[in-house]
Amino acid sequence: MLAVDLHAHSNVSDGMLPPAEVVARAASRGCRLFALTDHDDVRGLAEAEAEAGRHGMRFVPGVEVSVSWRKHTLHIVGLGIDYRNAELLAGLAGVRAGRDERAERMAAALAAVGIPDMLEGARRYADNPEMIGRAHFARHLIERGYARDMKGVFRKYLARGKPGYVPHEWACLADAVGWIRAAGGVAVIAHPGRYEFGRQTLLELIEEFKAAGGEGIEVVSGSHQPSDFERYARLAETQGLLASAGSDYHATGEGAREPGILPDLPPGPEPVWRRWLDDAAPAS
Ligand code: AMP
Ligand code: MN
Ligand code: MN
Ligand code: MN
Repeated sequence: MLAVDLHAHSNVSDGMLPPAEVVARAASRGCRLFALTDHDDVRGLAEAEAEAGRHGMRFVPGVEVSVSWRKHTLHIVGLGIDYRNAELLAGLAGVRAGRDERAERMAAALAAVGIPDMLEGARRYADNPEMIGRAHFARHLIERGYARDMKGVFRKYLARGKPGYVPHEWACLADAVGWIRAAGGVAVIAHPGRYEFGRQTLLELIEEFKAAGGEGIEVVSGSHQPSDFERYARLAETQGLLASAGSDYHATGEGAREPGILPDLPPGPEPVWRRWLDDAAPAS
């Protein structure tokens, strides 16, 4: 196993635990290098960094930026960012700005299929009111008995094409990569195995991403099937991208993986974390 986890969420976005508790959980499982990567917001990073220090765990400040590319939504993770960088902060504030109005449209869309009064309930799950999103609606739909689990509620109501889904315009790819780089970070394509487009489109995305200054791609991910690991390791190697690994942890019981440790990276690609582990104090 790898004692590295470079993708996880707290209640600053759509995770359930406060930043310090996510960090403590990763540390307790033996993690040596950890990144908190909340969606579109960096407000958990100072707390997470301080907590990592208390556990002697190496911390990488991160973020997961929501991007609209062609007709698709995708996620770009930024790692090693300076989370006080003004350009990054302004960009993320712009991405967050549309979420509240989107939530109103989602509630209206659900009401139109006979599911009323969702907005207040979803808001109760969103500890950061600027960051209300589909996971908060999902938890409230489950609470109200409309589905049994996250997988089911997305499939029935919240995935693209389903009654509670509303189109939304996120950041553009070049802007997201640009903000991450302006803040000194490395941009990484998150969970490529989750996107609904084919290989040719993925290769076109990688071309644009590299042209914008993107450098990495997730290979091992809690959002991937184990059969994806080998495929994206080969892709990283052939495309000259650095390989990343992250649990995509949101809450215990919701996803495939707990935070902190992950299956090994298949041989071949260069790990994105080498720069942060090489100068780390040797394990004693
Ligand atoms: P949003 O940014 O509001 O569109 O919400 C996206 C988030 O919803 C993702 O980061 C996941 O946390 C969650 N999500 C999306 N699709 C699924 C799915 N099929 N199953 C479970 N969670 C999902
Ligand atoms: Mn999420
Ligand atoms: Mn994601
Ligand atoms: Mn994520």
